[in-house]
Amino acid sequence: MTDVEQIKERLDVAEVVGSYIQLKPAGRNLKAPCPFHNEKSASFMVSPEKGIWHCFGCSEGGDIFKFVMKYEGIEFRQALEKLARQAGVSLKPRSSEDAKAKKQQEDLLRVMELATQYYHASLAKNRGALEYAVKQRKLTKPTIKDFEIGYAPDDWNALTNFLEKKGISQAQLKQAGLAGQKAGKSTVYDLFRARLMFPICDDQGRTVGFTGRVLAPEQEPKYLNSPQTPLYDKSRVIFGLHLAKPAIREQDEVVIVEGNMDVVSSHQAGVRQVVAMSGTAMTADQLKTLSRLTRNIKLCFDADAAGLKATERAIELSQKLPINLSVVELPSGSDPDDLAQRPAEWKQVIARSKPAMDYLLDRLADEYDLSTAQGKRQYSDHLVTSIRRLADPVEQDHYVKRLADKLDSSPDVIQRKLSQTAKTAPIAPVAEPPRPAATQTVPVAKPAKLLLEESVLALNLCYPELRLSLEDLTPAHFSDPDHQLIVETLQRVGNADLETVAARLPNQADYVKILALRGEEEYGSFAPADRSLEVFELARRLQIASNKDTKTKLSRKLREAQDKGDQQLVHTLLTQYQALLGEHDS
Ligand SMILES: [Zn+2]
Repeated sequence: MTDVEQIKERLDVAEVVGSYIQLKPAGRNLKAPCPFHNEKSASFMVSPEKGIWHCFGCSEGGDIFKFVMKYEGIEFRQALEKLARQAGVSLKPRSSEDAKAKKQQEDLLRVMELATQYYHASLAKNRGALEYAVKQRKLTKPTIKDFEIGYAPDDWNALTNFLEKKGISQAQLKQAGLAGQKAGKSTVYDLFRARLMFPICDDQGRTVGFTGRVLAPEQEPKYLNSPQTPLYDKSRVIFGLHLAKPAIREQDEVVIVEGNMDVVSSHQAGVRQVVAMSGTAMTADQLKTLSRLTRNIKLCFDADAAGLKATERAIELSQKLPINLSVVELPSGSDPDDLAQRPAEWKQVIARSKPAMDYLLDRLADEYDLSTAQGKRQYSDHLVTSIRRLADPVEQDHYVKRLADKLDSSPDVIQRKLSQTAKTAPIAPVAEPPRPAATQTVPVAKPAKLLLEESVLALNLCYPELRLSLEDLTPAHFSDPDHQLIVETLQRVGNADLETVAARLPNQADYVKILALRGEEEYGSFAPADRSLEVFELARRLQIASNKDTKTKLSRKLREAQDKGDQQLVHTLLTQYQALLGEHDS
């Protein structure tokens, strides 16, 4: 991952922009009067989900780097250093090191891809493992395919031999976390043996690690995870996210479960807004990543002490983010893996989730003896810490009252306890943000044809189901070189989502997202049928406008050729001109 990618992943665009200007929520996005042109209305928009900002008034827009550069009037390198500090990212030296690290990462991704394919193919060949997966784990063929589930043969050198034949070095095998080496030995051995293999993917669906589950109950440990590698950072990766994203957006919620296996069975049951943290404690990075997709985050942990601790930690982490955290309570004795066998019940259990603080109040009441003064003190000590962290005063007040009820005490007493605790932990003052140093941008009207091109692309980027509208268009119908690249890519990727399209166009990625944001803002309120009519009409008008342009150019060339008396060129141009007339009568 490059420095820029890492910084973008850690910093939320709303947080960065919001530290300079005041943003107001507007649906999934945030709005403000534009800091870069003079206006009273709010045409400046920030999309946390897409990681970009854009002004519909002056057309300025981009990522966090562009904003800081423009607002503070500084160069890219300065903005990079500033945001790197803010994100806690230490910048790599700007040298051949960068290129080397990038090459190493690409090589390791290739190794992981080969390993995924190898394990996946082994599962199909191994009758025992396949029977275990299908009969005991109740995995269906589509699930095995979607999650690329595989089997690591019961052999010390199955994978290592296969990969070495493909030209992968022993050093790379170890670096990828696939092989080990015994002291004093010159050869390496397979780290995963006789296990059902679940690839752990990054959010683009590329394998970065594995979880291996034993087949035989007596084998230990039950689950074996890849070690930390240059690709696999356990504090960042979210299991199942690449497959869950569409459902998370659609359902506007995400359910976090404990085990990777729970994710697989839940997806199989058709409940796909489910992910897991790969067996580690949740980090702020992971919560932030999820909060960009939805505000509604539901925790579904075991009801044991570890689960309670994880919930409290999540409440603490969630206070700095604009999210609604709630807890899904499992019926006693069941886990998501069992429940997924009964999808209707599993959906109900998820729907009945409780706000996290309510859960904590009820859950902790069972831990202490509230009939004694000591029990009450311990119970309130425990909760006051969490209540104090609540950022919203109204919410805080609500829980002060609820806690008072539970203790058969008064809200005043709780408030007093709250301010006592507050003295020991002061809140850092918020610094006054500097004014923008950049000069004001004067909005310039764009030619009508360019606007038409933008609208056609905006709709197609935002709504993949409209891409049939591009069938009669070619890149030549677009005059802007970026637009030509985008339409060419759209025609190649079929129904791929915005992120896939943006990933294919690294140099235009921000622009692509800005166009999609425009599509969302301008056409989001249309009924799907109207949107479809609109895009076909716009595409038709673009074709006409483009043909008109071409005709003007052709007739100019034709006149020049006639003046020069170049009969052959006149003939060629005339043929082209007539072909154009036949193609579209306008
Ligand atoms: Zn503006």
